[in-house]
Amino acid sequence: MAQRIPQKVLVVGGGISGLATAFEMQRLARERGESLIVEVLEAEPWVGGKLRSRRHEGFLIEESANGWLRASGATDALCEAAGVGPSIVQAGEAAGHRYLVAKGKLRALPQSPFQLATSDLLSLAGRVRVAKERFVPAAVGQDDESVAAFGRRRFGPEATELFIDPLVTGACAGDPERLSFSACFPKLAALERTHGSLIKAMMAGRKAGVDGASVPDARRLTSLTGGMGGLCEALRSALGDSVRCGGRVVRVERMGGYRVHFADGTTAVGDAVVVAAPAEAAARMLASLDDSLAREIGAISYNAVAVVALGFPEEAVKLKGFGFIAPHRERRFMLGTLFETNLFAGRAKAGYVLTRTMVGGTRRREALEATDDELVTSVRNELADLANILARPALTQVIRHPRAIAQYEVGHAARLGRIDGRLANHPGLYLTGGAYRGVSVNDCVADATATARRVIGV
Ligand SMILES: Cc1cc2nc3c(=O)[nH]c(=O)nc-3n(C[C@H](O)[C@H](O)[C@H](O)COP(=O)(O)OP(=O)(O)OC[C@H]3O[C@@H](n4cnc5c(N)ncnc54)[C@H](O)[C@@H]3O)c2cc1C
Repeated sequence: MAQRIPQKVLVVGGGISGLATAFEMQRLARERGESLIVEVLEAEPWVGGKLRSRRHEGFLIEESANGWLRASGATDALCEAAGVGPSIVQAGEAAGHRYLVAKGKLRALPQSPFQLATSDLLSLAGRVRVAKERFVPAAVGQDDESVAAFGRRRFGPEATELFIDPLVTGACAGDPERLSFSACFPKLAALERTHGSLIKAMMAGRKAGVDGASVPDARRLTSLTGGMGGLCEALRSALGDSVRCGGRVVRVERMGGYRVHFADGTTAVGDAVVVAAPAEAAARMLASLDDSLAREIGAISYNAVAVVALGFPEEAVKLKGFGFIAPHRERRFMLGTLFETNLFAGRAKAGYVLTRTMVGGTRRREALEATDDELVTSVRNELADLANILARPALTQVIRHPRAIAQYEVGHAARLGRIDGRLANHPGLYLTGGAYRGVSVNDCVADATATARRVIGV
């Protein structure tokens, strides 16, 4: 017999994680013919959290993610269910051309194992070391390893600084020496286990049509015509009155079910509660319920990132491609720049291009002490130097994320195990969001979907 589902579930946090959990719970309950009341409790007057798109002077600017990769299927499925499937768009061909900064110049990023092993970005010794990766034995049963240690072990120190470092910057703007390889790149870690070598796995993947034989264009960047915020808006519309904005939850209390307390002294009750707020806020609201649980959650750190969006006349920008990343060893002000108008149509008014430059991250946090004007000036100077973009921008927008992306440091998996252990003492309490099992939109949606299924007992 199917498990009885809770009658009322509170979801704290209306970012993509909270909205997707709420939407999926309602969908599953409807499917089972059960009635379920869901309330999404969001602190801000708007939904979406970091995943928002702003329109300004004819430009469409993403505040955080500009898309997802189809491989996982989770975000595509959610878009279809939320009614925005027809707005799904794929990035143009230019998205296949990516660059990195090497010795102060933009250079094409190798696209295949062969290009990697023969890249003249590496010294001869560096190339030989990469070619030997196929013969490096896979680590079996080893302790959690940092991304940098993994890179050095398999590809050598030079390729780690040149290629693994930007991979980390692109994924989460973190410090490869501190981040856990298996927590940040679980799919790559699995490839080492199954193929014994990443190069062998990539070669096998290319032969088989890469990691998505069943998913067309699995590696293509995908978005919505109106920007990523459109997904959160669609979920909000679908959830209707179930979304309550403008109330900050300060405490979660257990009393048979759960009672949450808002900053203004009011409360809401439910049989179950899903906390989908970022780790620091989640830790604060759970501290009086379970101090050990709260301390584990609160120990998950975040970096800070600013997005500097600039709109240039199109004749000023020659680079055709996805964008570029600056490895840490280049000591650049910026982390990297995305050429948004090369990816998706409708991101700028006619005759203009839109760039988004990321600044800060774990290792360049001090750059964010600059004022917005100073950020724009420094970014413009570097775009002039690296990409020869000399024109004055018609649009400047700075979006700051003081707690941008969760950093899964070495020991993250063990921490998740301890968190799950504590949660077992609190039936009806669930955690989801970018702090735990993946920071990407795909990962957040997949974890939200899995969480919804657990709440409903599917
Ligand atoms: C600059 C940047 C670029 C990125 N680029 C990409 C990318 O290209 N691709 C990709 O896949 N991912 C990217 N990401 C990551 C992705 O955007 C995030 O991981 C994801 O949006 C996080 O969603 P979330 O719902 O878990 O958290 P959030 O978006 O942080 O949502 C949490 C919500 O909880 C609310 N909240 C907080 N405290 C309380 C409280 N006390 N009471 C009630 N509500 C509360 C917040 O207001 C917020 O709405 C990027 C992130 C950043 C910052």
